[in-house]
Amino acid sequence: MAFLDQNPALGYPLAAGLGLMLGSFLNVVILRLPRRLEWQWKRDSLEILGEPEIYDPPPPGIVVERSHCPHCKHGLSWFENIPVLSWVALGGKCRNCKAPISIQYPLVELLTMLLVLCCVWRFGFGWQGFGAIVFTCYLVAASGIDLRTQLLPDQLTLPLMWLGLVASIDSLYLPAKPALVGAIIGYLSLWSVWWVFKQLTGKEGMGHGDFKLLAAMGAWFGLNGILPTILLSSLVGAIVGSIWLYAKGRDRATPIPFGPYLAIAGWITFFWGEDLVGAYLRFAGLA
Ligand SMILES: [Zn+2]
Repeated sequence: MAFLDQNPALGYPLAAGLGLMLGSFLNVVILRLPRRLEWQWKRDSLEILGEPEIYDPPPPGIVVERSHCPHCKHGLSWFENIPVLSWVALGGKCRNCKAPISIQYPLVELLTMLLVLCCVWRFGFGWQGFGAIVFTCYLVAASGIDLRTQLLPDQLTLPLMWLGLVASIDSLYLPAKPALVGAIIGYLSLWSVWWVFKQLTGKEGMGHGDFKLLAAMGAWFGLNGILPTILLSSLVGAIVGSIWLYAKGRDRATPIPFGPYLAIAGWITFFWGEDLVGAYLRFAGLA
């Protein structure tokens, strides 16, 4: 690892390649995890209701099953499965049936590559860099799923929180105490906003997944990152949300997922939170 730190000409291309492969995997998670969960919820509900067991075959698993064209079920060979390059080479179409392949694939791959490069640039090639890559991957998967399905699965937010807490045992980024307090306050802060909003309007303005996501990120950046994340996510949300409403002309009551804004804000806070807060305080003349 120290070797890669001293040889960035080798380290950065390796990190970029890793980022592309991780992005390719995250695409599969984003598409298959919600389907898998919905299948499981349906089966559990039928079981609770005592319905006769109708065996609905499970959708493909995340790790084992090979990728195929969703349109014609044509199985993808290795050269149709190379991140970004295959999509470009195939002109964004299935080789077999010419159905368009979503631009989500190359976008997620490129985004993950850039984010992984940021991880090693900011934290180096040691455990801190590795942890940052794990943190980043969870956030990309959670945001992608929230954008597509308006769900923030516990299967992502809860492990992310545990991993942050485990990393704090040996103070990878911060000691255990601020990590734990960060997770608790992260949950309670949004929960109280949701509760007050519900008392005032009778509506649910936010999903429970959002509290869990902030709790999870709080375990990584600690108590000091909670307020900057909330402020930053509202800012990002206000900007993107108004562009979105303007472009799509959507009804104001249509839920726009908050998870991706929270994830973007939390990611920035984890990487550069202290610099941002310091710069802000200097700007405001407070420090
Ligand atoms: Zn096809």
